[in-house]
Amino acid sequence: MSEPVTLDVVIVGAGFSGLYMLHRMRGLGFTARVYEAGGGVGGTWYWNRYPGARVDIESHEYSYSFSPELEDEWVWSERYAAQPELLSYLNHVADRFDLRRDIQFETRVTSAHFDEAAGRWSVRTDQGETISARFCVMAIGCLSVTKEVDLPGAETYQGQSYHTGQWPHAGVDFSGQRVGVIGTGSSAIQSIPQIARQAAQLTVFQRTANYSVPAHNGPADPQVVARWKANRAALRAQARVAPVGFLSWDQSEALAVDTPPEERERVYEERWRRGGFAMGGAFADTTIDMAANAPAAKFVADKIRAIVKDPVTAEKLIPKSYPFATKRLCVDIDYHVTYNRENVDLVDLREEPIETITPTGVRTAARDYAFDSIVYAIGFDAMTGPLTRIDIRGRGGLALKDKWAEGPKTYLGLMVAGFPNLFIVTGSGSPSVLSNMVVSIEQHVDWISDCLAWLHGRQQSVIEATAEAEDAWVAHVNEAAAGTLYVQANSWYLGANIPGKPRVFMPYVAGVGVYREKCDEVAARGYEGFAVSAAA
Ligand code: NAP
Repeated sequence: MSEPVTLDVVIVGAGFSGLYMLHRMRGLGFTARVYEAGGGVGGTWYWNRYPGARVDIESHEYSYSFSPELEDEWVWSERYAAQPELLSYLNHVADRFDLRRDIQFETRVTSAHFDEAAGRWSVRTDQGETISARFCVMAIGCLSVTKEVDLPGAETYQGQSYHTGQWPHAGVDFSGQRVGVIGTGSSAIQSIPQIARQAAQLTVFQRTANYSVPAHNGPADPQVVARWKANRAALRAQARVAPVGFLSWDQSEALAVDTPPEERERVYEERWRRGGFAMGGAFADTTIDMAANAPAAKFVADKIRAIVKDPVTAEKLIPKSYPFATKRLCVDIDYHVTYNRENVDLVDLREEPIETITPTGVRTAARDYAFDSIVYAIGFDAMTGPLTRIDIRGRGGLALKDKWAEGPKTYLGLMVAGFPNLFIVTGSGSPSVLSNMVVSIEQHVDWISDCLAWLHGRQQSVIEATAEAEDAWVAHVNEAAAGTLYVQANSWYLGANIPGKPRVFMPYVAGVGVYREKCDEVAARGYEGFAVSAAA
């Protein structure tokens, strides 16, 4: 067996998190290397190449802020950049900061074991290498493990099948085909209008209708770009403490329950016209009070009724089983209007459940559907899935997946008691998927970098969350979620999309600004809640 590679920091994943982590580590003089399963940089934007894939936060906000030069030179073409442009951006970042020489592609990390005597992580890859590193940073994303197709008979299907999260790099031409799409989450809602334009016939299988608001995409507005450029530092500073880490959400402090109905309607209408997530920030009580949520839900339902011509289809498309915005809100381009096309049908799986996938298509309780292609837009084993797939073992050989058997436990979403020197970027217990991921990623990478510099400056080399701090944080995260309507929806935030996954609300709901303050306080108090020592 070859000699282990010895590093200060091993970084797993070359998406937004891993690239910036490498850049910061180099800046601090640490030896660091990134291991990436894909053939290129980009993470989410490397894998999710399905038709219509694009960011749903405005491009200028969904981008790195750490380099003013990078911000000056990069020009986004659309309000919401499409996947190819996002991938170009991340490739540009990799080149501009000369990151590639420390990234190893097509190399999947399979295990990471903590060697207590040495105070180091021993990391193995599917290429047979071993890396010995003082610190291990899991920059592997929250939505990087696709949900397996769990429908009976899927292996018997003779046509082509695709998962939106693992789309072929060469693209897919659906021209002239009969296509079935299973799922109606964000990935489906983005891809359905595109596939409908190409395919001869499209049938959408919907289990749960989703709330979706219009993006109103278009070329980047020169006025918005100019305003952003002129005030960038101040606007970025505001976004870093905004509840969800971006300004176009525009969180209002007004309560819907205290607002007269006509005024409420006016606010919803104005925000619907603005497009994107602005609807989410319309009132401060939308996700905490059913009385405030119901009018928002009704507003969206009425919009669907106005857009979709067939009233039966419209009713099916209206979410009824959970409060507005308590599953990830979708942002679409022409989603609902697509159901007015002659070549698009909607099958409600609550009325006719799928019995099996057959060699020729899908059999529901009502009938057989024949397809040339099936698109599985069925989502991900979110947040914990990417970590529990790797054989991660901490002190005493404890496996992370065993420690998390009843749900993830972290301190600040960043570290886990019993797993010293292992950092998670945007892990469970941090705002993560409830926020602008790029803002949360930069915050975590900066916090981890400052922490490593602090340890180094004190000749310390091992840091570990204490069990007490972790317990208190987990209780706080649960308490924050329990006070909201989020826990009423069977969402992937709760692991409800994966059979057998513990039902625990994983992200921290109190907001990006509140969370950042807590993390900064912990650091300012000498990393309170962490035990620090020098390795043997
Ligand atoms: P998702 O939100 O989990 O949606 C999966 C869909 O598949 C749901 O409609 C689900 O129905 C359905 N489904 C799953 N298993 C099924 C089964 N066995 N039979 C029938 N239907 C089944 O996944 P996603 O659309 O890939 O999105 C995941 C997340 O990725 C999003 O919430 C978002 O955070 C992120 N994303 C972001 C963007 C963007 O920013 N532009 C785009 C795409 C995705 P149920 O609801 O009934 O479970």
